[in-house]
Amino acid sequence: MEFKSAFVAIVGRPNAGKSTILNSFVGEKLAAISSKPQTTRTKITGIITEDDYQLVFVDTPGVHLPKTRLGDYMNKSAMGAINGVDAAVLTVDAARDPGAAEEKIVSELRAQKVPTILAVNKIDKVAYEALLPLIDTYSKMMDFETVIPVSATKGDGMDKLFDEIKKHLVPGPMFYPEDMITDKTEREIAAEILREKLLRLLEQEIPHGIAVEIEEMKDEENIIKISANIFCEKSSHKAIVIGKKGDMLKKIGTYAREDMEKFFGKKIFLQLWVKIRDDWRNNNFMLKNMGFSGKE
Ligand code: GDP
Ligand code: MG
Repeated sequence: MEFKSAFVAIVGRPNAGKSTILNSFVGEKLAAISSKPQTTRTKITGIITEDDYQLVFVDTPGVHLPKTRLGDYMNKSAMGAINGVDAAVLTVDAARDPGAAEEKIVSELRAQKVPTILAVNKIDKVAYEALLPLIDTYSKMMDFETVIPVSATKGDGMDKLFDEIKKHLVPGPMFYPEDMITDKTEREIAAEILREKLLRLLEQEIPHGIAVEIEEMKDEENIIKISANIFCEKSSHKAIVIGKKGDMLKKIGTYAREDMEKFFGKKIFLQLWVKIRDDWRNNNFMLKNMGFSGKE
């Protein structure tokens, strides 16, 4: 049988459930890094390889209207992900009407003529009757290949969604080794886990001014030693990251370490350094360094 493959972008506004969908397709390991809301800034690829096919999923950062250069980068990379894919899954929240974010994504999908499946997610939150008008509204925005109501957390409709995605497989090579589930390097994964803890534990306005860098990652026999920098914009932010008597930093470190241990399946020794880096948001070097590079 001829081998088939496809690149599939999972697009949609932050919090629509893209990571949850990806995780449920790809399985446990990715869940460890991206099951929390609003966390994925960089791209995560999930890969499913079977005997006769390989699906490569591209999970994109959310689409925001750019306020800073960081916003620009994030948008570019969100849109870059649909460049040349075989199909896209537009993931939307069944409890929300389409807004500017969806308009923007749809116009890009249309411009690039990407065959798109509409996944109306979180149907567990809405009454069945509310779905039809919403689907109707979306259907006027774009000619979708198909519309699948799903609940990524409950699993409803997910098999159907997966079957629809598989229809977009085309004869082609195995792009990645069969045992690979993500193209992220271990450093990127470690940085992502740490970033997620910062987002979750810190006050709203602060994490967006924060960058994370894995300075060193040493895989030793029984332990992985990781040394990471947390860059803040201001000393007041640094103080918040550290917390009273170092409480906050300890909490961040503990949670990050626990997730890293789960992901890497090994004991982790994690050292965190909090530093001030002026205006990193507008600093190209830092953006590239943090994985916000415009190139794919
Ligand atoms: P992303 O930003 O698009 O990647 O969204 P996430 O996958 O991180 O999900 C955002 C939030 O929505 C998380 O709290 C998920 O648990 C929740 N969520 C995802 N799918 C569903 C669903 O089908 N039903 C409900 N009720 N919540 C969901
Ligand atoms: Mg996500």
